[in-house]
Amino acid sequence: QRTHFGYQEVPTEEKASRVADVFHSVAARYDVMNDLMSFGIHRVWKRLTLERAGVRPGQRVLDIAGGTGDLTLKLAERVGENGRVVLADINASMLKVGRDKLLDKGVGGNVEYVQANAECLPFPDNSFDCITIAFGLRNVTDKDAALRSMTRVLKPGGRLLILEFSKPESQVLSKIYDEYSFRLLPKIGELVANDAASYRYLAESIRMHPDQETLKGMMENAGLERVEYQNMTGGIVALHRGIKL
Ligand code: SAM
Repeated sequence: QRTHFGYQEVPTEEKASRVADVFHSVAARYDVMNDLMSFGIHRVWKRLTLERAGVRPGQRVLDIAGGTGDLTLKLAERVGENGRVVLADINASMLKVGRDKLLDKGVGGNVEYVQANAECLPFPDNSFDCITIAFGLRNVTDKDAALRSMTRVLKPGGRLLILEFSKPESQVLSKIYDEYSFRLLPKIGELVANDAASYRYLAESIRMHPDQETLKGMMENAGLERVEYQNMTGGIVALHRGIKL
């Protein structure tokens, strides 16, 4: 598959190691780059995700591909001392930055840190009331396996929330967004993080990610029900939610 800009999808076997390189490389500057590249809007997207998650005190939540722990931090406040949040990520560098940040912010004993691959989660069936994955699914090599694995570890009645870049609703927005992500974003990456390649990968992975309806179908195939999504910022980002019944 080729994009308009001539990038080619990375073969499956190379993708995992490329993703690992990218996140080892960006871990230390991840938070500041996130704010810069999204003009701080990622905070609004995450706030909406938390609202839709509807997590209550005492619940068990998995924040997979949780990286530097933005969602985990807020989820931990919501589940309270009798609940539990697992911050899981495949990448040790991202997990370490996340763990240090949360400990600095005084997050206590209701958060656990686990290095794990979303494709084969190391948890028993029916473990969590809610699972969140924010800007993580597009980096996963076998997305169907990850969706099946997440569904497996959800409790019946539990919900999966996927926050991810998606397909802009209008052609004009799509053009502006392409210019931004393929031309400006690698430049910002070069200037701020001295790493244009990682940010070029980011733009490429966003382009390759399934659109809203395709992802909805994939969630249904994995066994989730009542799947729905809402676009944010004109479809640049979408929040999908499905329930395991
Ligand atoms: N959720 C955080 C946020 O919204 O700021 C971090 C998102 S970051 C863009 C993507 C994260 O996905 C990285 O920390 C990366 O290591 C993780 N990741 C990539 N592939 C993964 C996989 N197969 N399983 C678990 N985590 C993965």
